[in-house]
Amino acid sequence: MTSTALTDTIAAHRASILKQLEAASSREIELIAVSKRQPDERIKAALDCGQRVFGENRVQEAQDHWSERRNIEGLKLHLIGPLQSNKSEDAVALFDVIQTVDRPKIVRTLSDAAEKLGRAPDLFIQVNTGEEPQKAGVAPSGLADLVKQTRETYPGYLTGLMCIPPVDEPAGPHFALLAKLAKENGLEGLSMGMSSDFELAAQFGATHVRVGSAFFGEREAA
Ligand SMILES: *Cc1c(COP(=O)(O)O)cnc(C)c1O
Repeated sequence: MTSTALTDTIAAHRASILKQLEAASSREIELIAVSKRQPDERIKAALDCGQRVFGENRVQEAQDHWSERRNIEGLKLHLIGPLQSNKSEDAVALFDVIQTVDRPKIVRTLSDAAEKLGRAPDLFIQVNTGEEPQKAGVAPSGLADLVKQTRETYPGYLTGLMCIPPVDEPAGPHFALLAKLAKENGLEGLSMGMSSDFELAAQFGATHVRVGSAFFGEREAA
């Protein structure tokens, strides 16, 4: 594909997603274009279309994609994959929002990194709404304690909750649960919905949707 054709394709995907979000919800929803495992030419095309908000799963890959582009006007980067505490400093240095806080230790290492670097990303807590053993995120029953601890340790920057529903279940009840938990804990941000279900998430009150393949096209294999 020529680079113009690629930009046109991604611009069309983007316009269609934005239109569907607008139809699904009266509120302003942030479209996070998930650029993990996408070729650099597609990232460039997305920037050419005016997209400025991106999500990445891994700190190292995010550095490869974004370090040299960090000063693009309006660029906003979300970390949406699991975070190892030894990567906290790199994550704080690069990202504007870290969505995958799920345990006290990571709150402490992020807080230390923020103090050291003089830079404090917003935080979301990831909730394991399906209580799946293999999945990251705090169990719903542990959320209130983690919210409290995060507010004490890293005051002022906890803004929302994030979830990834189990693949083999309808997503609606998980989105509803996340919205309820956010309300109970006085949090506004709701990061939920991916390529296959962002419209549904919007109907359940998502403030952020994370869309990869429907935005960019299929990813490269892991
Ligand atoms: C990869 C990923 C996405 C995007 O997935 P698509 O199905 O391609 O939209 C969203 N959220 C998280 C946490 C992801 O890891």
